[in-house]
Amino acid sequence: MGYFADHQSNVLGLFDALACGAAVIDANGRIDEVNRRFRDLTGYTSRQLLGRDIREVFPDLGRLAEFASPDELATATPRVARAEKLLRLIGASGADQYALVTLSPLSGDSTWSLLEMREVLAEMDPPVAAESDPTVSAPVGSQVESALEGLEGDFHSTSLAQREERFRLAFEASMAPMVFSDRDGRFLAVNGAFCRMCGRSEEELLGNDSTAFTYPDDIGITEDVYQLIRSGAVDEYRYGKRFLHRNGRIVFAEVSICCSRDEKGEAQYYVSSVRDVTEERALSAQLSFQALHDPLTGLANRALFEDRLLQARSRTEREKKIGAVLLGDLDDFKGVNDTYGHLVGDQLLIEIANRFKEITRTSDTLCRFGGDEFLYLAEGLTSPDEAQLIARRLLATLDEPFIIGDIRVDQKASIGVVVFHGDSPDNVELVQNADAAMYEAKRRGQGHVALYTPQMGHDAVTRFSLVQELRQALVAGDVSMHYQPIVDLTSSSIVGFEALMRWHHRERGWIPPDIFIPLAEQSDLIVALGEFALRSALAAASTWEISDPVRGHPYVTVNLSAQQFHDPGLVTLIQSELERSGVAPERLVLEVTEGAALVDITETLGIMEQLNHLRVGIALDDFGTGYSSLSYLAALNPKIIKIDQSFVRPTHDKRRSDTLLEAIVTLGNKLNMTVLAEGIETTAQLDRLHNLDCELGQGFLWSPAVPVDQATTMLSAPHG
Ligand code: C2E
Ligand code: MG
Ligand code: MG
Repeated sequence: MGYFADHQSNVLGLFDALACGAAVIDANGRIDEVNRRFRDLTGYTSRQLLGRDIREVFPDLGRLAEFASPDELATATPRVARAEKLLRLIGASGADQYALVTLSPLSGDSTWSLLEMREVLAEMDPPVAAESDPTVSAPVGSQVESALEGLEGDFHSTSLAQREERFRLAFEASMAPMVFSDRDGRFLAVNGAFCRMCGRSEEELLGNDSTAFTYPDDIGITEDVYQLIRSGAVDEYRYGKRFLHRNGRIVFAEVSICCSRDEKGEAQYYVSSVRDVTEERALSAQLSFQALHDPLTGLANRALFEDRLLQARSRTEREKKIGAVLLGDLDDFKGVNDTYGHLVGDQLLIEIANRFKEITRTSDTLCRFGGDEFLYLAEGLTSPDEAQLIARRLLATLDEPFIIGDIRVDQKASIGVVVFHGDSPDNVELVQNADAAMYEAKRRGQGHVALYTPQMGHDAVTRFSLVQELRQALVAGDVSMHYQPIVDLTSSSIVGFEALMRWHHRERGWIPPDIFIPLAEQSDLIVALGEFALRSALAAASTWEISDPVRGHPYVTVNLSAQQFHDPGLVTLIQSELERSGVAPERLVLEVTEGAALVDITETLGIMEQLNHLRVGIALDDFGTGYSSLSYLAALNPKIIKIDQSFVRPTHDKRRSDTLLEAIVTLGNKLNMTVLAEGIETTAQLDRLHNLDCELGQGFLWSPAVPVDQATTMLSAPHG
């Protein structure tokens, strides 16, 4: 430390140059020196601090031993960085504050210690560990002031040489990398922390400037600062620059520099204190990434999306263009999780995100909105068609199946699109509208795109309140099952009943299942409704007596929605409900539509097999309106096919419907399936179907669906 020997009188300026708040304290914890930053951070003057016990400022400081064991302290070299602690600080403002504090011995015999503090954090919850000692936590007040009076003499008795020696030690012990340099930027003295920061020895550094280990792009920054200080404009300056560690690592640094001037005001030498902020930067970059991205897919999260949307809206307004929000929801993703487990589900989400990413334009933002929902923000469009085109391109990425391990998954999605102009509604409303459009897309079937219209928004509001009300209605007993007789077209006897759900709304009256079943299917409510239907229908069937001696007990048919049909708990549920009711399995028929059966044909066949095993029958509902492929029909092999009403009561192109009706009945009979015609209203319709050899029928000609007691009465009444 030759420099200090030569420049004794300049050393005193060094302490104030420390980038952190620093205090020299004696073995008893008495404050002996403080620098400017320490005064700034605590808000006290030198007079208020000097001679005071440091624990009046940091009541939780305890003993040095808390930072390092006495043994460690005795043997540690001053350069060993001490652990940093978050301590409560009683500053002049009186507010609850916290500071990051390190304590290091200034000399081997631990007579003096250097306390350095960074960052005063205001009003945070106290860390659990920091329990204050009630005996020392009294707020600093007049009592301290008076104590200081007596100590002042003490302080002044410290000789200049002693103080300088302590500063020199402070320089060496400081955790902050520090350098002294001459007016040309050549190092006169460097401390250990600085050597460590740039990975070079003191010998290598002394006499040279920092060019050799400055990150190339940042060469010149320091020189500019020197120039600024030399010009007399400022005496101290804080700036950021990057150094290169010997191992090639880039060190992000925050440099505080100040200068000492001679009598003529000429800058004589410089003291720089450096803070290595590399880790902080990396951490804050990581934290801000984590705060704004979805951890699974790495896509933007809601928060980032909302921010981008906000900006996009104002840009769109300025540039007189249009933007679009696309909300995509995977079709029946729950099925993937239920069938293959969440790991496969997660993997699928990642791969879908990757496919979407590949076609995301740089100007656009792709976000995982949560669960199986994705949002896409498109900007700079000229027409709503363009937005729909993007939606179709996104869907097209799902055409190829996904291979996860040895599992092959076909995954489709539905996308709702809403465009916005200058006068667009706010973020929340835009996403809500995209959601309403997505609902419409789902309604059209899997893999569809729908563009938002105000009517959809209106429907969404109604839908939402209806679902809420339906949930309550089920509990309140306002939902019930009605039964429509199924009749043998030859004998006119009742062979069974179809259970149809009814909701009697307290204000709106009867709400048809065509309205509320699809709503319930959008939420988990369908599961509860399905159980209710099954349980009620079996309870009703258990009371029905034999009406037709040939056919035995009448059976009951229960409608299943696609979601219920593919629910892994279906078979167990049916089994336990059959047991509970005591109804023979042959008397239960489950109605599924082709659409529901064909969501996943392999899975459907598996379910059918299990149901066959239980001896429960399957009826293919609304036959003729769906895919109606011969090969599907043969593969599914249902017990009953129910010809849709539109063939029985055609509204247009009667001839074609007639031909189809005939073909379906013939086909069903040939395949040995029972054919049932729905919606028979007139005797003419009945006669025609009878002539075609259609076995069973249902319709207003006999009866609409009626409450259970009426259905039971119907069984005992003579028919004909
Ligand atoms: P679906 O299964 O095809 O039921 C037949 C529908 O046709 C019933 O309408 C019935 O009331 C009606 N219908 C019967 N005969 C005639 C007729 O002669 N003329 C006319 N015009 N209509 C007739 P509903 O009860 O409104 O049910 C509509 C749909 O709601 C059902 O179609 C079924 O898909 C669904 N649904 C009803 N109950 C349930 C249920 O408990 N669970 C599920 N998942 N869906 C149900
Ligand atoms: Mg049905
Ligand atoms: Mg039907």
